[in-house]
Formats: sequence, structure tokens, C-alpha cells
Amino acid sequence: MLRRVALGVALAVSAFLIELGLDDVVGNHPWLVLAFVAVLVGSIWGGALVGAVAALAAWSLDSLVMPGVIGGGQPDRPILEALAVGGAFVIGAVVQPVGFDAARRRRPATAGEADHEGNGPAVDDSALVEAVVGTIDELAASRSAAQVADTLARKFREVSGAASAAVYVRTAATEPLVLRARSGGVATGGSDRLDAADEGPLGRAVRARRWITLADRTVVPVVVGQDVLGVVDLAAPRQPLDGRSRAVLVSLGRLSAEAFVRQRLEAERRAVGDEASIASARVESLSRLAAGLAGADTVEAVAATLIERAVDGLGAEFGLVYERDERDGTCRLIRAKGYPVGLAEREAVLRADADGPVRRAARTGHPVDIGSPADWRHTFPGNSDVLAMTGTQSLVAWPLGEAGHVGGVLVLGWAAPGGPSTDRRSVLAAIADLGAQALERARLYAQERDAHRLQEAFISVISHELRTPITTILAGSRLLVRRLDDPQRAADLASDIEAEADRLFRIVEDLLVLSRLERRNLEIAQDPVHLSHLVTRIVASESSRWPASTFVVPERTETAVVRGEETYIEQVLRNLLSNAAKYAPAGSTVAVVVDDDGTRTTVRVLDEGPGIARDEVEQLFSLFYRSPSTAASAAGAGIGLFVSRRLVDEMGGDMWARARPEGGSEFGFSLATYPVDDDEPVARASRHGDAEDAPVPDGTVLD
Ligand code: ADP
Repeated sequence: MLRRVALGVALAVSAFLIELGLDDVVGNHPWLVLAFVAVLVGSIWGGALVGAVAALAAWSLDSLVMPGVIGGGQPDRPILEALAVGGAFVIGAVVQPVGFDAARRRRPATAGEADHEGNGPAVDDSALVEAVVGTIDELAASRSAAQVADTLARKFREVSGAASAAVYVRTAATEPLVLRARSGGVATGGSDRLDAADEGPLGRAVRARRWITLADRTVVPVVVGQDVLGVVDLAAPRQPLDGRSRAVLVSLGRLSAEAFVRQRLEAERRAVGDEASIASARVESLSRLAAGLAGADTVEAVAATLIERAVDGLGAEFGLVYERDERDGTCRLIRAKGYPVGLAEREAVLRADADGPVRRAARTGHPVDIGSPADWRHTFPGNSDVLAMTGTQSLVAWPLGEAGHVGGVLVLGWAAPGGPSTDRRSVLAAIADLGAQALERARLYAQERDAHRLQEAFISVISHELRTPITTILAGSRLLVRRLDDPQRAADLASDIEAEADRLFRIVEDLLVLSRLERRNLEIAQDPVHLSHLVTRIVASESSRWPASTFVVPERTETAVVRGEETYIEQVLRNLLSNAAKYAPAGSTVAVVVDDDGTRTTVRVLDEGPGIARDEVEQLFSLFYRSPSTAASAAGAGIGLFVSRRLVDEMGGDMWARARPEGGSEFGFSLATYPVDDDEPVARASRHGDAEDAPVPDGTVLD
């Protein structure tokens, strides 16, 4: 450009010098300088019009002013004149414009829509070069597609001279184009998202992969290969754009397209990196959980490990681990975290017949999702609102194990509605898998431990409790044979033999029930049993067995008829009565109290023995358990209470033990009262003749 200006100036000056014949008059006439400036400006502005103005100026100076100043008449003057005017015109017309683009920019170019041919006036080369270099620098420093889009919008606007530029970009070939950057005034397009079927110039430019030029708008697609990565919407660009500006825009578009591709790859790499790091964090957390669970050999330890990891790892507000009893489907709360204590106590045992997320998950083997408080109310309208009570918005009850083999349920509650995200669900599924395996393992361990313990205890029972009476019976009978001549001694020996045989018989009876219970082939009738007769008969027989104790029988129990099997109720009663007498000091009283509230009949055996410690109560009902405080005071096998409770359970009743405030203990059980119909035959206490032989009136003291 400078070269052209210099040429213009030089030509203009030479024309005047020729015209003036290198006369020193120039120095004496300053208006000549004005003429020179007019031609110079004309040559700088350029164009046919300016050329004409310059020619006119040269001609007027020459024709109107110069003759008066330097005189006329030279023979060669017309030739010089023509040269000066022509030269000025050529210089003005040929030299290209440097500035004033704005003046021409708004000039309407092609009417309607047409492919841009790029015949417009040129911009400054250095500005274009600067735009390209600046774009390269900016794109190289870009850290995101948004930055690339921003650079693209600004540079396109700068080079095209548009009032505004909007850049739409897509993140993947299948994604729609979305407005990512804007430079300058208000955008021409209405929506931020470009529909694939858009009928406007943007949509057409994208589909055709070519420029669309309108009167006040140019749309340039950003293309790599066959892919349209984006599109630039230029509002009111300089029109028509000159070839170089257009070429520069094409280059900028390519540079940006490459930058977009790079950013896409970068983003994918980062995403892969992020996924990899998230995945490795999860793997690490799951492997820590697996390691923790491997060391947990009880159901409680499994539940504790599981809940810690699940609540913390999945951002839950609370967590619960229930264990499912495979016999009756009851779910028992093993561990709770972040759960209100009162609520946990209330929901410690969930019976299988009621509905709720835990029982449903346990029953079906599928997770139960509650996404919101409204969802809870809709799904479990009858249940108390756990979400409201825990201040949470969603929960999931996840089965530990597959359908049909659910060993427990993990419940997690979240502060936000909607439950766990897809990612969290997959982690939860993995945690639940590990938990289910660990739970199963812990159960097997426990069974194995129990089996081992029971085996040892059983051997010890056989060796002591069975051998002792047998040895006594053997020795006593041998002695008896030799002492038949001494009736008193023989009677004592026979009585010892009977007592030991009786003891042996009871242990064997208990062991028999035990083995049937273990093999689950104990069948119990649901007969009506007249309890008062049974109690009277058994108390009579026990009182003869324990002469040192006084037995008190109930006063009014005539109506007490229960549902069950007489043989087993008798076995339970005998166990309780003999324990009451066995552990109490000689001379104490054993009272039997029977209450019938119309639906349940309760039998309580009250003694004056050593009593029982509160924290030992449940242990007394464990198989082979004998309290260290009383074990030495009487012989026993630790089977009676266990078997008794199981028998009462099987008959649909309850059994308990408690220390009496006045000293001694109470062992009792309750059974369903049988609705008595007068015509219905009721089992009478007639199995052993002794009740009939020794009828005991109500409230009578036996001793
Ligand atoms: P056993 O009496 O053969 O040891 P049980 O199963 O009948 O077995 O009783 C278990 C344990 O309960 C007893 O060893 C004893 O420690 C305790 N126990 C049972 N009955 C009483 C009672 N009436 N008073 C105090 N302790 C008792």
C-alpha cells in the first residue's frame, strides 16, 4: 500500500514538474502546493471519481490560474496540459483506497442471496496479517471450546467489519449446534440452539457446508473434512467482502476448526482421565470394603463394615442393615447409622407379613426406590413416614442377595429427592454384592461355630449327664440285689434308682425333642388342653419327686383350656417345676399361677431360689447354657429351658424368665386360650394315673 501511495505521489509531483518545466515559480507560488495536495489526496483516496476530481483540479489550476501567473503562449503547453490532467486522473483512479472502508461498508451489495465472490474493496494487509497472527496466538492459548468460539467470534467480526458475530458450536457430530460465543451487538439469530432441520440461513449453511450471504448477514460454516463443527453468523458485515478478507476468514475458520477438534480431543482425554480416576477411586474403595468384609466373621461385624462404607461412600444421610431370618422371613435390624434411635428401636424387628421397603426388597429380591416424600406416601400409605421423620427426601432398600436367597437388606436415605444417580446405583450394587457374600459367609461361620460348640457340649452332656444316672442305676441295682434281705435299705436303693431313671428319662426326652427340632420334623398338635388338670397332675408328681419343696397350685383355673399338645406342655411344665425346686434351697415354696384373659392363658412358676441376673436372662434359654452361679449347686445339662422355649414357640406361645422383686425367679409361658365349646371334648390330664390317684383341690398346698 505504501508503495502505491509513494508511486502516486511521485507521479503527481513529476506531472507538475513537467507541466511547470522545472520552473522555480513553484517555490514562489504556494497555491501550487495546494494543487499538489489535491492531487496527492486524490491519489491516496483513489478510485475513478477521485481521479476525475484530481484531473479537474489539475486542469483548473492549469487553465485558470497558471496563465495569469506564469503567462501562456508556450508552444508545447497543450501537450503538457493534457499530460498533467491525464496523469492526475490516472494516478487518482488507479491507486487503491487505504481507509474510509466504513463509508463504503454499508453500501448495499448484491440484492438477495448469493454465493460470495469476494470482489469488494480491500482492507489493510497489515491488519489482516495481524488478525491471522493474533488468532493463531489466541487459539494456541485456548483451554476450552468456549475460548476458541470466543476468539472466532471476535476475529471474524474484526476482519469482516460486521456489527456482531455469533458462533454456534457442536460438541459431537450427533449433537445440535449451540450458541457458544458472541461478539458485538445483539445476535441476529433468535434461539441459542440450532435445530438440525432449521430452515434459516444458519441451517442451510450447515447442511450445504458453504457460505450464505444475505443483504445484511453472512453465515460461514466452520468445517473439517465433511464435518461441520460450527457456524459463524455475521450481522451486517462489510459487503461485498474483498477476496483477501474472505480468504482470511476462510483461514481463520480452518484454524478454529482445528482448534475445536483439538479441544474436543482434549476434553475426551480429560473425560477419560476423570473417568479413570473416578473408576480407580471406586475400585480402591470397593477393594477396601472387600478387605474389611473379609475380616468380618460375624453378621454384626459385616453390618458395621457395610454401613460405614455405604453411608460415607454414597453420600447418604442414614443407613440401616437388616438381617433376614430365612425361617420366617422376619427382618431384624443389625446396624443403623444416622438413624433416629427411637425409630430404630421401633423398627428393630419387621415381621414378614407387614409391607414396607425392607420387607418388599427382602421378599422380591429387587431394590425398592422411594424418590420423594410424595412417592413414600403413595407407595406405603399405611406406614409411618420415615422420610419425614429422618428429614430425608429419598431412600432405597437394596436386597443383599438374589431373589429367593436374600440374606438381608441395606437401606440408605438421601437428603435430596430422586435417590441415587446411575453411577451411585452401580456402586451400591457392587457394595450390596460384597455385603451379601460376606453376610452369607458370616452366617456359615456362625453355623459352623455353633455346630462345633454344640458338638462339644453334647459330648460333655453325654459323658456327664447321661453317664452319671446310668452309673448310679447300675450300681444301685447291683446293691439292691444284694440287699433284698433288708427291706428298708432295698426301698431306699429302689427309690434312688427310680429318681436317677426319671432324670435319665427326662434328659433323653429333651434330647429327643432337640434332635427333632434340629431336623425340623417335630409335629405339634393344636389340641385343646385342659391346663388346670394338667398342672394339678404334674405338680402332684413333681412334689413327690422334690419332697423338700412346698408346691402351691392355682386356686381357680377350671376354665383354662389352651391350644397345644399335652405331652409337650407337660414336658415344659416339668422342666420349670423341677428347676424351681432344684435350684431353690430346701424348705422353699414353689407357686404355680395360671391366668386366663380370654385370649391367652399364662402359666407362671414362682420360686424362692437364687434368682437370675437381668443380663443373663436370655442366655438361660440358650442350648447347653448353665449359669456359673448355680451350675455347681445342682446337676443339669442346660437343655431343658432351650427345649421348653422352642416347644412353646412351636405351639404359638411365648416364654420368659425374670427375677422376682421379692427374691427368687419367675419362669413363665403363655399359650393361646382355646375357645371352649361345652360339647367339645377336652384333653384331660389322664396320661399318668397319678393325677387321678392323688387329686389336688385348687389352692391346696402339696408337700
Ligand atoms: P439345667 O437345669 O439342666 O442346667 P436348664 O436349661 O433347665 O438346664 O436351665 C438352664 C440354666 O438356667 C440352669 O443351669 C440354671 O443356671 C438356670 N436356671 C433354670 N431355672 C432356674 C431357676 N428356677 N432359678 C435359677 N436359675 C435357674
